[in-house]
Amino acid sequence: MNLSCIHFNLVHVSIAPFQQAFALIVVSFLCVSSQQIQFADQKQEFNKRPTKIGRRSLSRSISQSSTDSYSSAASYTDSSDDETSPRDKQQKNSKGSGDFCIKNIKQADFGRREIEIAEQEMPALMALRKRAQGEKPLAGAKIVGCTHITAQTAVLIETLSALGAQCRWAACNIYSTQNEVAAALAEGGFPVFAWKGESEDDFWWCIDRCVNVEGWQPNMILDDGGDLTHWIYKKYPNMFKKIKGIVEESVTGVHRLYQLSKAGKLCVPAMNVNDSVTKQKFDNLYCCRESILDGLKRTTDVMFGGKQVVVCGYGEVGKGCCAALKAMGSIVYVTEIDPICALQACMDGFRLVKLNEVIRQVDIVITCTGNKNVVTREHLDRMKNGCIVCNMGHSNTEIDVASLRTPELTWERVRSQVDHVIWPDGKRIVLLAEGRLLNLSCSTVPTFVLSITATTQALALIELYNAPEGRYKQDVYLLPKKMDEYVASLHLPTFDAHLTELSDEQAKYLGLNKNGPFKPNYYRY
Ligand code: NAD
Repeated sequence: MNLSCIHFNLVHVSIAPFQQAFALIVVSFLCVSSQQIQFADQKQEFNKRPTKIGRRSLSRSISQSSTDSYSSAASYTDSSDDETSPRDKQQKNSKGSGDFCIKNIKQADFGRREIEIAEQEMPALMALRKRAQGEKPLAGAKIVGCTHITAQTAVLIETLSALGAQCRWAACNIYSTQNEVAAALAEGGFPVFAWKGESEDDFWWCIDRCVNVEGWQPNMILDDGGDLTHWIYKKYPNMFKKIKGIVEESVTGVHRLYQLSKAGKLCVPAMNVNDSVTKQKFDNLYCCRESILDGLKRTTDVMFGGKQVVVCGYGEVGKGCCAALKAMGSIVYVTEIDPICALQACMDGFRLVKLNEVIRQVDIVITCTGNKNVVTREHLDRMKNGCIVCNMGHSNTEIDVASLRTPELTWERVRSQVDHVIWPDGKRIVLLAEGRLLNLSCSTVPTFVLSITATTQALALIELYNAPEGRYKQDVYLLPKKMDEYVASLHLPTFDAHLTELSDEQAKYLGLNKNGPFKPNYYRY
């Protein structure tokens, strides 16, 4: 059976068959212009093996480029008592394969149950598996992936495999791997190279083990943060001769691709998943709306009712955080630099302030700007005793944490990811995750939201892999509305949602195709 015969008649809308849909989609893909972003030069020498102590201290730093997407980071198995590095262990799965490097293969059963739970909340990927039964739109695809390794990613990897792809996978973040899930994948025969608490050296070693394999060469890249792409550019540029495309999920990775494109160095087509509506609106807004409370609660057991909170930045992430805190009865202040977002905050019922005006009185400070030095040492000095300080933006630059590492201040680790920073007069602030992304470091994020992004990634891979020669140039492409609408429609049945179908007369009146796209590209949701 050909995939083009599979009709997606969900939600009472006759959605075009796969290939037809893709053909339509492709025509309307937007080729976007390049932006000036520094392409970080990673100078890690992965083959210099650090000592155990070295590994631990290195692992305190995080690959910054990998922090602008999230994962369901909490791993329920903590085998920190096992000090042996996975690189020093000889492990085999039950079929005798040792082509993986993970913390502990014995956790596979537990990991499998985690994956099964995730499957229940990832209806679109499961639908893709069912609908593609017998047909393999990714047959022959050799996908090398570098993403958070979590139960949700495992559902994506196993879906890609069900669609015919061979996959090798590394983690895009040194902290976010769910060890038990990595074990389940390895047991299932997937070459996975990742564990929670990798050092920087391990990080690059794992990526290299995915790419540098005898008798296997990737022809597709699925990246989150751009590190994998960067590694291949730097170490194995000839590989790009066989690579058909890159799918990139994160802000940082996408910026790196635009920079390559601008410099004329992008040698394959790339899909920017980050800027698709389904990512921006669902990941950033709904994911943060659901995970901000979880991150704060797990780390501090704080009660939200009546607490004064200042949220810096009222973009998608800020809006999600504010909505959740308001619903819990917190008194929420917002800071903004952009008058449009500021006006939105006002009209949503939040007090717009300058940080200085409220810094002495607030109980919680949350940054969500994507900017740097939003909370300075001066602000930190003026906070009241017990103030909780955390960041939901992509990198650890929003709070000037470095300024707190001075001799007069004492740092006390009170829980994992929770530090008390104590001033000479006894005042202490509660710093979460050392100023890194709170939900990435300290909570889980809703699987359903991840399902939306994962489905978009899967469809982008299928499209790039199957696209005829010449359809895509060596540039960065945005996902079109049609594909976003399709991903959304695959998730509607979960809610027993009944979508209204345009009548012929209405379609004509609005000048629309009855099957979409329903909005112009410039439409803002
Ligand atoms: P956005 O651009 O929609 O919002 C950021 C807002 O911050 C903008 O409105 C901007 O005007 C404002 N801003 C910038 N500098 C400021 C300053 N000094 N003071 C006050 N406001 C300022 O972006 P977004 O989608 O909301 O994402 C924000 C950050 O969160 C990004 O770094 C993004 O990568 C990250 N992110 C985090 C998660 C997560 O799960 N935690 C998910 C998605 C994105």
